[in-house]
Amino acid sequence: MNIILLGPPGAGKGTQARHLVEARDMIQLSTGDMLREARTSGTEMGRVVADVMDRGELVTDEIVIGLIREKLVGNRAGGFIFDGFPRTLPQADALAELLAATGEKLDAVIEMQVDDAALVARITGRFTCGDCGEVYHDVTHRPAVEGVCDKCGGTNMKRRADDNEDSLRQRLMEYYKKTSPLIGYYYAKGQLRTVDGLAEIEDVQKAIAAILD
Ligand code: ADP
Ligand code: ADP
Ligand code: ZN
Repeated sequence: MNIILLGPPGAGKGTQARHLVEARDMIQLSTGDMLREARTSGTEMGRVVADVMDRGELVTDEIVIGLIREKLVGNRAGGFIFDGFPRTLPQADALAELLAATGEKLDAVIEMQVDDAALVARITGRFTCGDCGEVYHDVTHRPAVEGVCDKCGGTNMKRRADDNEDSLRQRLMEYYKKTSPLIGYYYAKGQLRTVDGLAEIEDVQKAIAAILD
């Protein structure tokens, strides 16, 4: 099964993707994570990407499609969860072609609906475990022991430089201009499903499970 999690920054895509990896042996493909890795690589591409990300703008289609293409070869396990990709219509077309080329298809596009007011609190409270990537929140999802990851015991918690209100505003603008047209695109194809992203994490999990089953 191959699915897309679609929603603005802070909608809960990464949180739900990680759950699906554990529960269904799926593979999470987060272009945001891949790009953050690329920027630490010291390559020319890494430098270009860092600038764009810090401005809260979208990286070029060419770069992200290239990253996804590399990941689609080889192990498919329980299928792919596309998290933060596609973010533009050309990326959506490219994904359809890449999947078709390997005889695969997209099974569902799950739109996580949230309202903008909730996103500021989501984004400014977000931190992740630097060792395993588990996603936490200052208010809604704290580790059981302060500063210690529930999943791996790591104590290396990190906050993203772009998780501030100014950057969020820019990222939201990009979302409405370039990504939200994908909602209509997938609706027209009969692939769009919607969940309430404002519900509790476990309830969102259940809503997604109901769609996938
Ligand atoms: P969030 O968790 O806030 O939705 P991501 O981690 O998915 O953010 O993305 C962080 C940044 O990486 C984006 O603001 C953008 O600059 C870049 N990025 C991630 N995915 C894409 C993509 N599919 N196309 C273009 N840029 C991307
Ligand atoms: P995205 O990948 O869409 O940018 P994340 O999964 O990183 O979003 O979630 C953003 C922040 O909101 C994180 O701090 C996460 O712990 C928190 N969060 C995610 N889902 C929920 C939810 N349903 N209710 C409350 N907080 C949530
Ligand atoms: Zn951890």
